[in-house]
Amino acid sequence: MAELNAFQMAQAQFDRVAKQLKLKPEVCEVLRWPLREFSFRIPVRMDDGSLRVFQGYRVQHNDARGPNKGGIRFAANETFDTVRALATWMTWKCAVADIPLGGGKGGIVVDPATLSTGEKERLCRGWVDVMWKNIGPRNDVPAPDVGTTPQMMGWMMDEYSKLTGEYTPGVFTGKPLGGGGSQGRTEATGYGVIYCVREAMKHLKMDSKKCSAAIQGFGNVAQYAAIGFVEMLGGKVVCVSCWDRNDKKAYTYSKEGGIDPRFLLSIVDQYGTIDKAKAQKAGYTLEPGDAWISKDVEVLIPAALEGQVNAETVKKISSKVKIVAEGANGPCTPEADEYFQKNGIFDIPDFLCNAGGVTCSYFESVQNDMNFYWTKEEVLEKLDTKMTSAFHAVLDMSKKEKVYMRDAAYMVAIDRVVKAMELRGWV
Ligand code: NAD
Repeated sequence: MAELNAFQMAQAQFDRVAKQLKLKPEVCEVLRWPLREFSFRIPVRMDDGSLRVFQGYRVQHNDARGPNKGGIRFAANETFDTVRALATWMTWKCAVADIPLGGGKGGIVVDPATLSTGEKERLCRGWVDVMWKNIGPRNDVPAPDVGTTPQMMGWMMDEYSKLTGEYTPGVFTGKPLGGGGSQGRTEATGYGVIYCVREAMKHLKMDSKKCSAAIQGFGNVAQYAAIGFVEMLGGKVVCVSCWDRNDKKAYTYSKEGGIDPRFLLSIVDQYGTIDKAKAQKAGYTLEPGDAWISKDVEVLIPAALEGQVNAETVKKISSKVKIVAEGANGPCTPEADEYFQKNGIFDIPDFLCNAGGVTCSYFESVQNDMNFYWTKEEVLEKLDTKMTSAFHAVLDMSKKEKVYMRDAAYMVAIDRVVKAMELRGWV
């Protein structure tokens, strides 16, 4: 069977659960597809005077529970279907985390590393110039994602505020601190992954101090997952794998006795490329990019890209692995899922596992609305409470319905969205 693309995968996952939940066909028809989609071109004046036209997207999957919410990715391989899939997953993610928001996602087909700061700013403002009438704090609230940064959200929020004539910090989240951003946003997704791993370990009666993890990626999510695994759980991270922008290939960085995530954080650039020379000088070993997946560890954390654990790569997983914590969006294919179920691997599905980011974004818009800001400790404590309760709602459903965690998470999420649609009279 041909490998499914991300959106086909999202629909296949939904279809399976819709059948289990015995959803009416017309309800499925609403939820299988995004409610609204935008595909557009953004002309940008480059530094050398030439004009370059970029492909942009925004997809609003379902806003029955509240304003659409989801990141904007700047990626060279972005496609409409990837954005559709990510928007769909955002609907389930917000519902499973029980925050009153719907699902959206956006993107621009571009490698941001090829742009100057000025070109990036003009591209960000260009995206808003096209989309501003269809976004807003009560409508659709974008945020940073792969290839985008808090600074970019600052520019985009500024452009929106200029166009509407009103200072509107709540239109974008993930803004810089001091520019309407929330404390704890940088750590939120990675720490959220670790709160889930901690609860999974309690459930499986594992001692986190005796456990090790291998991580794919060393961007925002992976960095704080690595720090959290070491500092909160007392475990060891044996390696991280990341893309090297200069060599155009991925490497796995490992170290005898475990990596030091704070050291690696000090030598990584804003795109998640580790400085090879400095790492080697500090005693790190460089292996091929896919070496992370076959390490003898209890926990695997794919936190880079979608489709990484698939029919082919899943066979490389060590028999020691007990938990897969999906830090990235869609990192495991249905074939990998099947393998996990057959081999008793406890999988924490993406839209539960990485919901820390959107939960903190929700806290950011709440703070923007109040114009009153919490300390980092307050934010992280609220985040822990939300993530822990989301994890247990899914675990309880999985025990009650005797289904696997991904299906249980879908059941919790879809049930909440369908109820909201019914209450609003949509179905
Ligand atoms: P990022 O751009 O900060 O980092 C991505 C990392 O992946 C980089 O270290 C890069 O080197 C690495 N990478 C790229 N290709 C690779 C390859 N072939 N092998 C190994 N490593 C590779 O992105 P991020 O914000 O950390 O997001 C990572 C994933 O998590 C994405 O799927 C994103 O959609 C998802 N996510 C992010 C957030 C968030 O708050 N940042 C929230 C939820 C989900």
